[in-house]
Amino acid sequence: MTEQIHDPAILADGNDWRTRDLAAVWHPCTQMREHPDTQPLLPIVRGEGAWLVEAGGRRILDSGSSWWTNLHGHAEPRIAEAIARQARTLEQVILAGCTHPSAIELAERLLALAPREPGRAPLSKVFYADNGSAGVEVALKMAFQWFANRGDAPRRTKFVALRNGYHGETLGALAVGDIPLYRRVYAPLLCESLFAPSPDAFEARAGQSAAAHAEDAADALARLLDAHAGEICALILEPLIQCAGGMRMHDPVYLRRVRELCDVHGIFLIADEIAVGFGRTGTLFACEQAPGNAGTPAGIQPDLLCLSKGLTGGFLPLSTVLTTQALYDGFLDASRERAFLHSHSYTGNPLACAAALASLDIFTADDTLARNRHTATRMAALAAQVGAHRHVADTRQTGMVVAFELTRDGDRATPFDPALRVGLRAYRHAVERGVLLRPLGDILYWMPPYCIDEDQLQLLAQVTAEAIEVATSCA
Ligand code: PMP
Repeated sequence: MTEQIHDPAILADGNDWRTRDLAAVWHPCTQMREHPDTQPLLPIVRGEGAWLVEAGGRRILDSGSSWWTNLHGHAEPRIAEAIARQARTLEQVILAGCTHPSAIELAERLLALAPREPGRAPLSKVFYADNGSAGVEVALKMAFQWFANRGDAPRRTKFVALRNGYHGETLGALAVGDIPLYRRVYAPLLCESLFAPSPDAFEARAGQSAAAHAEDAADALARLLDAHAGEICALILEPLIQCAGGMRMHDPVYLRRVRELCDVHGIFLIADEIAVGFGRTGTLFACEQAPGNAGTPAGIQPDLLCLSKGLTGGFLPLSTVLTTQALYDGFLDASRERAFLHSHSYTGNPLACAAALASLDIFTADDTLARNRHTATRMAALAAQVGAHRHVADTRQTGMVVAFELTRDGDRATPFDPALRVGLRAYRHAVERGVLLRPLGDILYWMPPYCIDEDQLQLLAQVTAEAIEVATSCA
């Protein structure tokens, strides 16, 4: 039985839902003038596993997991049930001065699962916020205030971030992001950050390995940190994949080097695993893949770990910042001003915490990471076929994320003229064929819900190949 809790008839064919939507709704990350002529507007009434279902019943494969949030499938019954149970018990409570069972249990379980490095005090405190950007703001503010509380003079006021990185769109998060499309107009409002070269393997010199390129980027970072010794409070990065930057991937050796450099300079390392956490890269957290001294994966432990998106299985907004006892202790004082006075109304919302607990249960019950290893192998085989197209300059994969970089001559040096909107053309073709394949510029990617099955994978590969052919032959 399918229960409808809203009126799906609004979206039925023949109704003026498009007009109503465009009259009232301002869509995110969208040039609204392009609706509805250039960009289709999809009327979604239901989700079912990896499918989104349009009014009228047409199914569309959600190949990007609805902005990288969904893990186990849409409307996953175990998560839906956990939220319903929680809603009947306690839907929301102020988390200052009060607590609730789901917040306590989730914090304990996240700390037990967090990346751990031998010889380093484990992450031992969880701060809640309610979306990814807010989590990044929390981490930046915590790092800054820790030094301020310690009374460092001159004050450490700078953050280091990576070229091509992305950490959200509130002003603090934008200040450590480097994607001009999102940042440029707000630049006068942003605090000044220092940007280090990206370890992005796509940027490697001809013949240079991803690891050698990552080492070069780490050397450049070392020089930047030396030049600004004593000014920096934290470094922030997206471990293994710069997602919004085009699903650009780097060698895990970079993480090891960054950890060492942050230690040498006494600055906090913030790992933004908002997009890559919870199994996207193959391991539960991307930080786990950093090599040890013998070259085997040993993992690094950040000082602050930002999680969101998949944290709730993609059901509800929630974010967490995990940090260390040492950082936490820097806020304990007789003065209230030295406390971390950051708050959001929905901090640690019980419904969201219950969803997150149910999602963690599914990882265990379904052995999700093992299943993903199998799925990722299938994705690799299919991606190799799709990537053989003459306009694909690079096919890359880390775990459950695959990306295809489209260029004019199929080499790295000849991007398509952006005015051709090759990615958008591919998107429109894929939507017609029943796949939601939202590109990043001219980069197409797969980041599907983990429940995607073999038939769906084959559809995804076939439609991606068609979309590349259609989009690039118009160009
Ligand atoms: N950090 C990263 C790495 C992200 O990919 C995103 C969202 N795409 C964010 C932060 C911001 O999260 P939110 O959209 O929930 O604010």
